[in-house]
Amino acid sequence: MTKVFETNGEAETKALASRLAQLVKSGMTILLEGELGAGKTTFTKGFAEGLGIERIIKSPTYTLIREYTQGRLPLYHMDLYRLENTGAEEMGLDEYFDGEGICIVEWGSVVEEELPQNHLLIQMDTSLIDINQRTLTISAVGEAYEKVLKELEDERKD
Ligand code: ADP
Ligand code: MG
Repeated sequence: MTKVFETNGEAETKALASRLAQLVKSGMTILLEGELGAGKTTFTKGFAEGLGIERIIKSPTYTLIREYTQGRLPLYHMDLYRLENTGAEEMGLDEYFDGEGICIVEWGSVVEEELPQNHLLIQMDTSLIDINQRTLTISAVGEAYEKVLKELEDERKD
C-alpha cells in the first residue's frame, strides 16, 4: 500500500511526522530515503516531538545511531550513510530492530538485506519548482504498517 503526501515547508513535514509518531506501535521500523537535504532529519525531529522527546535531535551522521529514551517509546535514530561495508552485523543493528523502540533509519538501503521485512518506507523528494515543497511517498509493508498508514491518511481527510 502506498500513499502520497505533499508538504510545504519544514513545519508541515514535522507536523506530519509528529502525527505518525502518535500512531506507531512498539518495535516498528521506518526507513527514510531521499537525497541530502530532502528532509529526513527534519522528519525525524518532528517524529521525536510526537513521541514526546524534548531533547534536541542531532543528525547521527558521525555516530550512526542515537538513542532517545524519554518519549512514549524509545527512539533509535540511525543514519547509515557512512556505514559502507563495515556491516550491520558488527554494528549490532539487529538488537535495535528486534527491540521495543522505534527505529528510524536514514540511508537504510546500504544494509538492505539486514532490514526488517515489514516496515514503513518513506521516500522524500524535493520539487524543481518550489524549494519548500516535498513529496513524501509512503509505502507500508505488513498488515500492522498498512493500518498505521491508513490511519495517517484518514486523519488528513478530517
Ligand atoms: P536530510 O536529513 O534529508 O539530509 P535535512 O532534514 O537535514 O535533510 O534538511 C532539509 C532542509 O530542507 C532543511 O534545511 C529544511 O529547513 C529544508 N526544507 C524546506 N522545505 C522543507 C519541507 N517541506 N520539508 C522538510 N524540510 C524542508
Ligand atoms: Mg540527515
